[in-house]
Amino acid sequence: MAQVASHSPGNPTEMAPPKQQDEEWQENLNVRMICKDCREDPPNIYEDHASGDMICASCGLVLAARVIDTSSEWRTFSNDDQGNDDPSRVGDGPNALLNGAQLNTGIAFEGGGIKSKELHRAQNKANLDKGNKGLLQAYKQIGALCDGWQLPNSVSDSAKHIYKEADESKIFKSKSQDALIAGCVFLACRRNNVPRSFREVTELTKVSKKEIGRTFKQLEQLLMKNQRNKEGATSVVSGGVVVRADEYTGSTSADPSELCNRFCSMLDMNRRTTTVATELASKMKSTGVLAGRSPLSSAAACIFMAGQLMGQPKTAKEIQGVAKVSDSTIRQAYKLLYMDKEKIITQDIIDRGADVSNLVKPA
Ligand SMILES: [Zn+2]
Repeated sequence: MAQVASHSPGNPTEMAPPKQQDEEWQENLNVRMICKDCREDPPNIYEDHASGDMICASCGLVLAARVIDTSSEWRTFSNDDQGNDDPSRVGDGPNALLNGAQLNTGIAFEGGGIKSKELHRAQNKANLDKGNKGLLQAYKQIGALCDGWQLPNSVSDSAKHIYKEADESKIFKSKSQDALIAGCVFLACRRNNVPRSFREVTELTKVSKKEIGRTFKQLEQLLMKNQRNKEGATSVVSGGVVVRADEYTGSTSADPSELCNRFCSMLDMNRRTTTVATELASKMKSTGVLAGRSPLSSAAACIFMAGQLMGQPKTAKEIQGVAKVSDSTIRQAYKLLYMDKEKIITQDIIDRGADVSNLVKPA
């Protein structure tokens, strides 16, 4: 009873919208094939690979004969891929993290004689991509570091992207590979809102704090430059934190007000004091007081000041314990804050119960 549909598989009752000329060819995903007898939609079509027929499973009408089976004739098992016996005829998709489109030809030596083996070796040698080899090595190292910290994949991916940009710029040629990788991981952590301190990165990578810091600064400059070249946008520097008017989010995660939140909770400070500390930090940022200071010491100074304002003072030593900046640095930053206290202690902060007379005059 089965009857063979006379034409190509696309023929039986197609629902094709009118074609437009002058446009680049694209597969029309609106075309669906349905059975011309039962017109069931969604169709219940089944490909019988053994006989090469395309059959409507509802009525048994053969819609197409001699269908080409495009699936592979082998199955892959992960532990099968030993000794280069992967039978697939295509490689991976292009990897944006590597150079080039990776569309080079490979010569298989399986099944061939000595000649093909030699050809394979010669071609392999000629195609040896040194640049990609270095990149792969670095990506491996970055992946291992991020795994060690149980950081999400997004961090290791962005570290790899940063590394690639750095590699392309060639300014880190003379730098040690370890330092560059440490800098990339550090920056990637910040960009993904899981900041790690220099000390933590030092412990993990055994690269000195100074070296990481220097690499990080250079990396950030490079990324900003690249960004600017791309969009011709400008950058604003305020409060010691580089804030991009648009896309670049490099250091914004080391925002002093965010740090204030974290440190205040570590110090067991109450909600009101925390709010005042974060307000001070954001005011400090917008007025440019403490510009050029590290976000850590700025945040520490804001907490120091907020504690006094709200009658919940913490000593510089206590703050040092969480912010990991020396108490003398905190006091120095506080001194600058104190000098500009009229600018940063807003009416809003006073309304929250801040008492300016509580402030200790810096030495
Ligand atoms: Zn049917």
